[in-house]
Amino acid sequence: MNQKKGRVFSGARPTGRQHLGNYMGAIRNYVALQDDYECIYCIVDLHALTTMETTVNLRQNVYEMALDWLAAGIRPEETIMFIQSQVPQVTTLHTLLSMVTPLGKLTDLPTFKEKVAEAPHNVNLGLVGYPVLMTADIVLYKAGWVPVGVDQVPHLEFAREVVRTFNHRYSTKALIEPQWKPTDTPKVLGTDGKAKMSKSLNNHIELAFTPEETLKKVMTMVTDPQRIRRQDPGNPDVCNVYFFHKMFSAQEDIDMVNIECRRAGIGCVDCKKLMAKNLNAYLAEFRERRIAISQDENKVWEILHDGAQRARLIAEKTIAEVKDAIGLP
Ligand code: ATP
Ligand code: MG
Repeated sequence: MNQKKGRVFSGARPTGRQHLGNYMGAIRNYVALQDDYECIYCIVDLHALTTMETTVNLRQNVYEMALDWLAAGIRPEETIMFIQSQVPQVTTLHTLLSMVTPLGKLTDLPTFKEKVAEAPHNVNLGLVGYPVLMTADIVLYKAGWVPVGVDQVPHLEFAREVVRTFNHRYSTKALIEPQWKPTDTPKVLGTDGKAKMSKSLNNHIELAFTPEETLKKVMTMVTDPQRIRRQDPGNPDVCNVYFFHKMFSAQEDIDMVNIECRRAGIGCVDCKKLMAKNLNAYLAEFRERRIAISQDENKVWEILHDGAQRARLIAEKTIAEVKDAIGLP
């Protein structure tokens, strides 16, 4: 582990089943980073509470997220994967960081404004403080790198600022300023072809779908809005299905669609069927592994508990340093 290039931290909210956006934007990258970095991946259940108004599915979501990560190739013997609320030190750090965070900075964040627009009836204090908790997550584990999609970049910039303010206020170097690690696929659009694919928008294609469910959802995808009739030529450059072909199809199919769509040689229905077939082939191995891992649910919870134990050791040290820097007895 010591020869690795540094420590990576990332988290995902167990607000629903994980989808292709999560896979292409985050999970795939989580797996690859294990080769070169010491990795800590967290199921951020406290973050989920900021927008989840019912928690009936929370435990199941946590479990399913762990299954996705393990099936994708997270190696729990070396990587720490755990549940946020099982390391309560993060809430202490959240409180301490809150003291150096101007409220106006939080309410000005575009991500906050978006969430307010999505659910104006549920603007709770936790939601406002979301970026502070996210900062606490990262710096508690002294992570130098955070692999996230483009949606999280404003939060990471915010985290860096909080760290600088904290270290300056208390004349310390206790906290490390994290850096963003961009992914190859920063933004996958949803089936609506407009918004970022997201668990909470119901425009997502779940990783754990069966091939039939995948096909059904793919058939609902919005294509080039200018192409109304089968005989109209289409424009793949503005079509989300073509974007998906570029992620999941072989070059031969990508080229065929690119040519045939433009001259109405292929219709949207056939184009989607082909994409769904390729997508199902792309995910086949992952899905097989997922089913195999799910045969032993206890083992998955054990992995998460073991991860929390290892995470707590790092967290306790950081909290001691931070309290010392502040002058808390
Ligand atoms: P929610 O709707 O509850 O916010 P989400 O689907 O946006 O859920 P998160 O848990 O917020 O998922 O994000 C987990 C990780 O997946 C983050 O690193 C995020 O950047 C990435 N991610 C989420 N959606 C996409 C997407 N559509 N394209 C690329 N990356 C994504
Ligand atoms: Mg999100």
